[in-house]
Amino acid sequence: MATRVECLFCGIVAGDVPATVVLDDEHVVAFLDVRPVFKGHVLVVPRPHHVTLPDLPVALAGPLLVAAQRVARAVVDGLGAQGSFVAVNNVVSQSVPHLHVHVVPRTKGDGLRGFFWPRQKYDDDAEREAFGARIRDALV
Ligand code: AMP
Repeated sequence: MATRVECLFCGIVAGDVPATVVLDDEHVVAFLDVRPVFKGHVLVVPRPHHVTLPDLPVALAGPLLVAAQRVARAVVDGLGAQGSFVAVNNVVSQSVPHLHVHVVPRTKGDGLRGFFWPRQKYDDDAEREAFGARIRDALV
C-alpha cells in the first residue's frame, strides 16, 4: 500500500497522528476535520496515498464513494442535520495533498453560502469525541 511518511493523512490512517476516527475499513478511513465548517464535518480518505480524485485507481472509487454515502447518512441520522455538503478540492484550495472527501452536515439557514467555508472550533476534546461517537453510532 502506498504511504508517504511526510503525509499528515497517511499518519492518521496509520494511527500515528491522533484523530477522531468515525469509520475504518479495508479501503477507507473517515475522521473529524479539526477545523470543521460545522461540527461533525468528516473527511473520508482512501488508505493508500493518492493526491487527487483523478489519481485515484478506479477500484477505490466505489469504496470511497460508498463510505462518503454512509457518512452522509450518519450525519443526518446521528447529528440531526437535514442534509450534507459533499466536496473534494483537487490541487486548487487543496491544503492536504492526500485525497479527502469533505462531508459537511447542513441545515437550512446554517449560513453557508457558495464556496466560502467558515470554520468553527470544538469547545474541547470531549465535545469533538462526542460528535464522533454520534456519527459512528449512526453508521449503517
Ligand atoms: P482541503 O483544504 O480541502 O485540502 O481540506 C483539508 C482539511 O483538512 C481542512 O478542512 C483542515 O481543517 C483539515 N485538517 C488539517 N489537519 C487536520 C488534522 N490533523 N486532522 C483532521 N483534519 C485536519
